[in-house]
This record gives sequence, C-alpha cells and structure tokens, in this order.
Amino acid sequence: MKSRSPGLVSLVGAGPGDPELLTVKGLKRLEGAEVVVHDRLVSAQLLDRAKSSARRIDVGKAPGVRRWPQSRINTLLVAEARRGRRVVRLKGGDPFVFGRGGEECEALVAAGIPFEIVPGVTSAIAAPACAGIPVTHRGLASAFAVVAGHTSAPLEQLDWAALVRVGTLVILMGRARLPEIVALLLRHGMSEATPAAVISHASTGLQQAARGSLADIAARARELGSPATVVVGEVVDLSERLAWFTPGEAAGPTAREGVVA
Ligand code: SAH
Repeated sequence: MKSRSPGLVSLVGAGPGDPELLTVKGLKRLEGAEVVVHDRLVSAQLLDRAKSSARRIDVGKAPGVRRWPQSRINTLLVAEARRGRRVVRLKGGDPFVFGRGGEECEALVAAGIPFEIVPGVTSAIAAPACAGIPVTHRGLASAFAVVAGHTSAPLEQLDWAALVRVGTLVILMGRARLPEIVALLLRHGMSEATPAAVISHASTGLQQAARGSLADIAARARELGSPATVVVGEVVDLSERLAWFTPGEAAGPTAREGVVA
C-alpha cells in the first residue's frame, strides 16, 4: 500500500451558535474537510457547510450522557490524519477557551501530526455582546476574567478574593451551580446589589436573557436552559440601553432540533 503523508488537523472555533459567526478561514477549512469531528453545541447549519462526502463524527455529549473520553478523541484525530485526511476538529466558541484544545494539540505534537488553530468567537465575549453587555467599558470595567463554573476541581479552589476585584466576571458552565457561585462572590465581599445577567443560547433564535443583581439572579434565571453564560459586574446595567438582539431575526438555530445534540 502506498504510504500517504499525514494530513492536517485544523482545530476550528465554531463561534457561539450563529453559523455566520464562524470565521472566513474556519469556513474554508470546513468546506475542504474530509473528516469533521465536532462537539454537541455545533449547529446543524454549520455542519451542512462541509461536503456531503465528508465524514461527520459527533464526539459531544448531551448533559448527563456519556461522551467520548478525551483520549479517544485524541486517538481518532491522530488516526484520521495518519490516513492523510484533512481533518477539521470543530469546537464551540474558541478552541482554547475551556475547550480542551490544548490537550488535543499536545496529542498531535506527540504523534508528529501537522496541525493549525483557527481561533473562534468565544461565547465568553459574544454571549454578553448579544445581550448588549460590553465586557469592558470606560469608567465601569477595565478588566474582565473568564471563569469555569464547572470543573473537575472544587470551585472553592479558585482565587475568589482576587476575582471579585477584577471588574467584569464572565462565568462559563456556571448555570447549574449559580447559587453556589453567587454565595462565593458574596462571601468574598461583592455586594448583593452587583448587577448580574444570564444569557442562554446566545446569538441564536433561542436566545434568552435574565437580568438582576446577585440577590436575585439565580431565581430570575431559573427558567433559562443550557448553554448559558453568567455575567457579573457594573457593565450588565448597560444592557438596559444597549440590548439590540432580536432572536426572531437570528441566523442561527431557531428550534431545538437545530442544535446538534
Ligand atoms: N470554547 C467555548 C466554551 C466551552 S465551555 C467558547 O469559547 O465559547 C461551554 C460553555 O460555554 C457553556 O456551558 C456556556 O457557559 C458557554 N456557551 C457556549 N455557547 C453558548 C451560547 N450560545 N450562549 C451562552 N453561553 C454559551
């Protein structure tokens, strides 16, 4: 059998949900892909941009359902590239923001597989933006931090004393543990009156937002589904004047079926 030189693995950020928020480069890679390895939060409209002959492999998970272990995903990427294929690893948002993209790159380096990163629009910035919340704003916040609200390590291990002083806090994967996160912020000196918002399905036709303060945001956001991003800080109040998004006009999925589950 003729040996083929290894293909290329492109780690592509798919953006927050609206398929039009994929970068031009990401779209080019997707259109040229022979294999697309994607997560659950990647919209069906985006996957349709790959050739019909491209193999699509869903390695994501629905909440609570078993997903592919990371080691198996790494092995798959290496194996497909060794067959000489052009592989796109399509990840929600940006591949290097809580996306385990770094681990996949480490596996590719170890196996001697050529790879590239195509950064994406992260929901950490896009979800607030779609609710009319700038993460920085002159006079209100000159720094922001992005925090994972659900990790293998206990939440208490984060330096909350430092985080409460940053400016704007953006919490990903924090929906389920919001009451716990609010309690930690209050315990470390944040005022109950600090504005807070939760934005779910940002940038898509399913977008919903709840706004309030640390005192009531957990209750106000109770009905909102996943994925959701939490924003805490004075910038949240700007959404009163800057909210602009109309879900009915969104290019992204407008029904649950539109989200690849
Ligand atoms: N790499 C991704 C983040 C992966 S962690 C990125 O850069 O966006 C997954 C978390 O991202 C979700 O739990 C949620 O907090 C957030 N998220 C992803 N898509 C979202 C969306 N459309 N609206 C709101 N939050 C979203």
